[in-house]
Amino acid sequence: MPRLIPRPYAAPTPYRITVLRMDPEAPTQNQQAKDVGKAILSGSAFSTMHRLHWLIIFLSLVVTIAAWRITSSQIQEKAANTYERETSKILDLVLERMQRYEDALWAGAIHINAIGGDIQYRDWKRYAEAVSIERKYPGINGIGVVHYVAPDRLHSYLTAQRVDRPSYRIHPDHDKQGFWPISYIIPEKGNEKAVGLDMAHESNRYAAAQLARDTGEARITGPITLVQDEQHTPGFLFFVPFYRSSTAPLNVEERRETFVGLIYAPFVVNNLVDGVLSRELRSITFSISDGSEEIFNEDAIAEHEFDNDPLFQSSSEIELYGRTWTFRFRSSKEFRRDLSSDQPMTILIGGILVDLLLLMLFVLISRNNRRNAHNAQMLLQAQKKVERANEELSHFNYRTSHDLVAPLKTIRGYVDLAKYQIEDKDIEGISDCLSRIGKQASRLEKLVEDLLNLCRIENQDSPPEAIDPHEIFDFVSSTLQSLWEEKGVQVTFENHLQAPFYAESVRVRQIMENLVSNGIKYSDPQKSERWVKVSFTPVREGWIRLEVADNGIGIPDESRDKVYEMFYRAGNNSEFGSGLGNYLVKKHVSSLNGTIDYRSSPQGTTFHVDIPAKMTGR
Ligand code: ADP
Repeated sequence: MPRLIPRPYAAPTPYRITVLRMDPEAPTQNQQAKDVGKAILSGSAFSTMHRLHWLIIFLSLVVTIAAWRITSSQIQEKAANTYERETSKILDLVLERMQRYEDALWAGAIHINAIGGDIQYRDWKRYAEAVSIERKYPGINGIGVVHYVAPDRLHSYLTAQRVDRPSYRIHPDHDKQGFWPISYIIPEKGNEKAVGLDMAHESNRYAAAQLARDTGEARITGPITLVQDEQHTPGFLFFVPFYRSSTAPLNVEERRETFVGLIYAPFVVNNLVDGVLSRELRSITFSISDGSEEIFNEDAIAEHEFDNDPLFQSSSEIELYGRTWTFRFRSSKEFRRDLSSDQPMTILIGGILVDLLLLMLFVLISRNNRRNAHNAQMLLQAQKKVERANEELSHFNYRTSHDLVAPLKTIRGYVDLAKYQIEDKDIEGISDCLSRIGKQASRLEKLVEDLLNLCRIENQDSPPEAIDPHEIFDFVSSTLQSLWEEKGVQVTFENHLQAPFYAESVRVRQIMENLVSNGIKYSDPQKSERWVKVSFTPVREGWIRLEVADNGIGIPDESRDKVYEMFYRAGNNSEFGSGLGNYLVKKHVSSLNGTIDYRSSPQGTTFHVDIPAKMTGR
């Protein structure tokens, strides 16, 4: 019967990681989430939205400002038009009214002309009353006749006047040649002081009267105070000449020769304006000046409506019956009120509010997008973790099943071999078999122990306790002394800490046990003296260093990044190991918030672990 020679325990063949998927072609939910996440992370969706948001807000602002400006300028334009209309209306009304007064005076002149070139007191009274001045021509104070009386005709003139009015007299005295008395004025009531008043006594009246005579046209005086105006406000006289000849005289000489007198009307400017334009219907105030003299100013009258900073003001000069009148207009508070509109402000504020709401909305959307991007990133990270854990689990399953089964198979092989050796009574062979079975059992035990430690490691958290480095070393000695004696390795210990330190004791023990055990296991049989040095040293405030140095075979450079990987074993040794030792050490160090590193060469290896640790007694 052929003897079965058991195969010695061998490292497992390289494994293949397979992450299970139901249908490798179809995108999983995770894949879809990944795609969305990638699109958001790449910034394409987000940045487009972002630019679009700003563009919309910008356009909305432009539209708001444009609407505001257009409405404002429309209102301005409307205001300017209204102002323009009102000022021309005032001018037109004044001119029209003056025209009507002129017509009334010319009608008087024509009447006189028609009845033979002159008129007596009674006739004039009849005529003027028939015209009913006060009713038809509001603003006019009366209508009268001024006669030119040459000095040589004075006596006959006065005699004629005194037939009806015995007390009639010409006044006041003056040094001019000839007399220009007001012969009649109707209505007489209120105009008493004017009867007999000589136009030549005062330059304004005299100049206008002469001008009317010489031009044959209607003329007005410069500003005067009417004798009949008790308020003494500015006024003027309106003159229209009449002549003896039935045809209109052609030149100044003819006019002077045939001149009889003037139809005249006195005006108080305030009454004139009141008669023409009712103040209540206007939102524009104005003043009138004749030359430098102001003859009317209603700004003072309508004080409460006076606008210190009027929206509009302007002036117009007009030639009026031989005088130049300057109209100064200004818009009143009422004008401002009528035209002030909240519309542009409402548009502006409303538009800005809408823009702010848009901005808030977009900020919310952007935040949401960012949150989604963040969530997608977290999802990706979580997925990667799961994939890594999946890989590790596959690896772990494969390795543990292989590593557990392999020594058992080897043991079974040796047991079968031992049966034949018992039959052959091969005592030496049996003893060799048993020793090999023992070794395989130890390896199995070590593997199971490491696996148990691995299972516990995540849930092993325990409160920090005061650790005396000597206790750690005693623990290491108790578990590893037989090994180092067997290997002929000298293990020494140095403690440079002043006092015990606080840390999780179980983790520190397992770290030291694994590192010292590796130092012994990977000692160099070629070297005559083999040693492992263990030390505890303070490194900086609050930190201590655990160091395990050996003069063993060293770790090849190509293994540098791998020595902490699960099940990794460098190809530099023939010693048995689970490949879990350094993996466990690294896990413990991370749990203690520490760091681990090593330096290695064919002369030996030094591992050092730095951990934060509060010292006792501080
Ligand atoms: P093992 O159970 O194989 O010792 P470890 O995880 O403890 O597993 O170590 C991983 C590998 O690193 C070992 O197989 C060994 O090749 C190498 N190694 C670890 N410590 C040392 C050391 N002190 N000297 C030389 N090689 C070492």
